[in-house]
Amino acid sequence: MRRQILNQPIDTFTLEQAVQLVSDAFNNPKLLRIVTLNPEMIINGLISPEFQSAINNSELIVPDGTGIIWGLKQLDPEHSKGVKRIPGIELSEYILEIANKLSRRVAIFGGKKEVLEKVVLKFQNKYPNIQFVKAFNGYIDKEKYDEVAKDISSKNPDLILVALGTPKQELWINKYCSLFPTSIMIGIGGSLDVWSGNKMRAPEWIRNAHLEWLFRVITQPKRLSRVMKSLPVFVYMVLKAKKNNKE
Ligand code: UDP
Repeated sequence: MRRQILNQPIDTFTLEQAVQLVSDAFNNPKLLRIVTLNPEMIINGLISPEFQSAINNSELIVPDGTGIIWGLKQLDPEHSKGVKRIPGIELSEYILEIANKLSRRVAIFGGKKEVLEKVVLKFQNKYPNIQFVKAFNGYIDKEKYDEVAKDISSKNPDLILVALGTPKQELWINKYCSLFPTSIMIGIGGSLDVWSGNKMRAPEWIRNAHLEWLFRVITQPKRLSRVMKSLPVFVYMVLKAKKNNKE
């Protein structure tokens, strides 16, 4: 079900429902843009109309961040009881499983060259039925984005994993999606770094304690300034909206 959080859209499907939507899109090819939303993206959307429309135009927007679930529960507790996080990395793994079962064509755009190469090698073993039709590293001039999009589209991928980090990946997807009218496109952030083994995902007990975001800040201190720019603003805005709702 599509809902709103701070006037931003969010779909509160279960993981099973989200996977079903993806499965339907593979079987009945159509454009499916997937955004994995976190509080930082909500704040960026409020600041940047271009990013806002990249989110708004997406067919599926899942709550990746714990903060989103917290915000939904603050603002609409009645309809948020069973709503759970859908981490982008996990959803992407389910999508790859389906792509493998259906022997689909997959392209990857983003990540460092050596990281991408590692992941493609690993995935060729793990998902033997997938045809990896294109893999482009994400460290290229923005002027080359057009060329990359055209090149990827010439390979007719059914699925494109875009790993440029937010907001670049959502903007890229939104800008070039008309070249991919029958593809599934998902922004996967730093998933390649985890899949390659270069970065560690938080252990399960930390995820269960809703602290994966903190684990990422501690293990990647560069994230601290990003989090500090957006998280306090997000918390303040949610609590303010909650107060206004009550009045
Ligand atoms: N990246 C890229 N090109 C860029 C900037 C980043 O390919 O110009 C990659 C980077 O190597 C990393 C991912 O994008 O794999 C961003 O990871 P992060 O965990 O920061 O994702 P976010 O939290 O921004 O979604």
